[in-house]
Amino acid sequence: MIPAIGYRLWYADLYDGLTRLRLQSLLAETLWPFRDRLEASCERRLAARAHWRLRQLGVPRHAAPALDCSCGAHAYHELEAMILQVQRLGHFRPLGDRRILVGGAVLSWGRLVIHPEGFRAQYARPLALCLVDPVAPAGAAEQVDQVAAAYAVPAVDVRYLVAHAREFGTSYKPEPSPSPLRQQLKRLSGLIKGQP
Ligand SMILES: [Zn+2]
Repeated sequence: MIPAIGYRLWYADLYDGLTRLRLQSLLAETLWPFRDRLEASCERRLAARAHWRLRQLGVPRHAAPALDCSCGAHAYHELEAMILQVQRLGHFRPLGDRRILVGGAVLSWGRLVIHPEGFRAQYARPLALCLVDPVAPAGAAEQVDQVAAAYAVPAVDVRYLVAHAREFGTSYKPEPSPSPLRQQLKRLSGLIKGQP
């Protein structure tokens, strides 16, 4: 299998003693390991009690990513979708939040669950990072450089991210299924062309 390439966001906080220089997932708060792959696991933190109950009932925890869950290392198929997410949440930072929003490309492999917008993977590691934070404080570019160095990946301009990522893998973006209207028009156009 050719590894998948995707695009995603993280937070990085250089002033937090625990997470210093580490990439942190936006929702799951997973800290990505330095110079190694991230292996996804299903945590379902919010449903810990339910998990306990399921174990009592003998239902095993599943391997991530599972089809009917949201676990796995998430990424978008396209850079544009990542940029849209920056626009959605980039400006809404709680007061005093010193984290910076870092964008990047990831290489993903193992089990993959493919969605129209992106995918969830069993394994992932960053390929390159870039500064995408619209409200980044002064010095944020140097901070991204430091984070990238800690992960042994380049810090690149967002304009070069796709070209860089394509060297390593391929896109698994599914072909959009033709809408019924488009299918009808195609059939109609075929009939017209077929007329003498
Ligand atoms: Zn799960």
